[in-house]
Amino acid sequence: MIIRSPFPDIDIPDVTLTELLFSGEPSGAPALIDPEGRITTRRELDESVRRIAAGLHGRGIGRGSVVGLFAPNSPEWVAAFHGILRANAVVTSANVLYTADELAHQLADSGARLLVTTADLLDVAETAAAKAGIEEVLTLDDAPGRPRLDTLPGGEPPPLVTGPGDIAVLPYSSGTTGRAKGVVLTHRNLVANVLQFSRMGRTAPSTVLLAVLPLFHIYGMTVLMNHALHQRVPLVTMPRFDLAGMLRLIERHRVTKLYLAPPTALLLAKSPLVDGADLSSVELVFSGAAPLDGELARAVANRLDCKILQGYGMTEMSPVSHAIPEDRPDIDPASVGYALPNVECRLVDSAGRDADRGELWVRGPNVMTGYLNNPAATAATLDADGWLHTGDIATVTADGVFTIVDRVKELIKYKGYQVPPAELEALLLTHEGIDDAAVVGVPDEEGEEIPKAFVVRRPGARLDAAEVMGYVAARVSPHKKVRRVEFLDSIPKSASGKILRAVLRRRPAMQ
Ligand code: AMP
Repeated sequence: MIIRSPFPDIDIPDVTLTELLFSGEPSGAPALIDPEGRITTRRELDESVRRIAAGLHGRGIGRGSVVGLFAPNSPEWVAAFHGILRANAVVTSANVLYTADELAHQLADSGARLLVTTADLLDVAETAAAKAGIEEVLTLDDAPGRPRLDTLPGGEPPPLVTGPGDIAVLPYSSGTTGRAKGVVLTHRNLVANVLQFSRMGRTAPSTVLLAVLPLFHIYGMTVLMNHALHQRVPLVTMPRFDLAGMLRLIERHRVTKLYLAPPTALLLAKSPLVDGADLSSVELVFSGAAPLDGELARAVANRLDCKILQGYGMTEMSPVSHAIPEDRPDIDPASVGYALPNVECRLVDSAGRDADRGELWVRGPNVMTGYLNNPAATAATLDADGWLHTGDIATVTADGVFTIVDRVKELIKYKGYQVPPAELEALLLTHEGIDDAAVVGVPDEEGEEIPKAFVVRRPGARLDAAEVMGYVAARVSPHKKVRRVEFLDSIPKSASGKILRAVLRRRPAMQ
């Protein structure tokens, strides 16, 4: 059975994201505000975007070229992102916590030609760039001996030759299984999701947003950056998360809507710092990227005296497919609300039949066209009828309110960040004392999901949990650390050799 969005379809105009967001005469209104209060107006942003596009064009970047963006949130990040698109090229945005190897994988796999970074990240960026055969590393700020992206020589920006069907971004996601893959999102995908998401809320002249979520992840990219630019409301950027800094910026700029992931909602509910802050401007807190507990949601709403809403999405869906509308704060915040306009859903059991509780399949204009250069992974996720198999288990009420109740895919989420088990398992197997390994997500004392490794020691190897954790921690970004270890005699596997993850997840903890 197909469950349609309760909202009427909206028209998705046949334009690129650049045309959607940068058409018309730019005004002198504030578009971006950095933590020091420095304002970038719409007009200044528009000029930067055009200058960057002209400079990139001069470097031979054009339609189909991929440019890596590896930098924390800043007004310059936004200008770089849209400058790359305005140069008819493609952005592959990377997590700033990445190690050089992780970054090199993404750059090489996406075929990136240039890498844009900041002086602080130059060491990691240069090591990765050398490994991935990047032509040139450019910076958003001043770094000795490195060209700045916004001062490259160039005259007028090139003509816009990309169309709505061209690739706009290549974020990396492990999807339901395996290592991180390039998610092919077109201009049409991004345009659609900005417009679909806009339908769930309303902005006012007083609306101010805060980019506390990273813009390199599709949640921040669409729901904060592109949504703010589309609605023409100011976006305050924060380079990295810290609660005190976030509270200060909310007070100073009278931020009205907070888009977060559950770990930050938890801090808002529990931290004593919140008592000393004036959060009276906050009208709503919106949580996504991982499950939000109902009790926690109510605690946030009570403490801040604001609405709390939840949404659900996935990189492969640009990312939002479900959300509680802003005018329906009566809907249980433990649910993820309705399907967005133009979104169709199915709930399907493991035999492919309609079910009351089943895997959520989604179809709509925001769904990716596939994984880059990976037809096998694409075919395993996106079926011939256009349904994206999310790997999440959901239920739905008679009036169309969805709740995410479980996850059947391998993916682990730690504080809203992806942790692909396959990547950690491959790494563990490179340790000389390890014969076999499996990694699954388990709840910690607070109920938050953490990566746990099950390890089979090589006979005679003297290996303890600290050694296993240290080995991984030295080689991956911090969110991918193994946080618990249990030693087993063998890893439970199916006849075809697949790790029985559900068995491991359900095992009572031995240590
Ligand atoms: P990502 O591609 O990094 O955005 O991760 C997508 C995955 O995050 C989804 O497939 C879900 O497993 C999980 N996720 C996102 N939002 C929610 C939510 N509101 N509730 C439960 N899981 C979520």
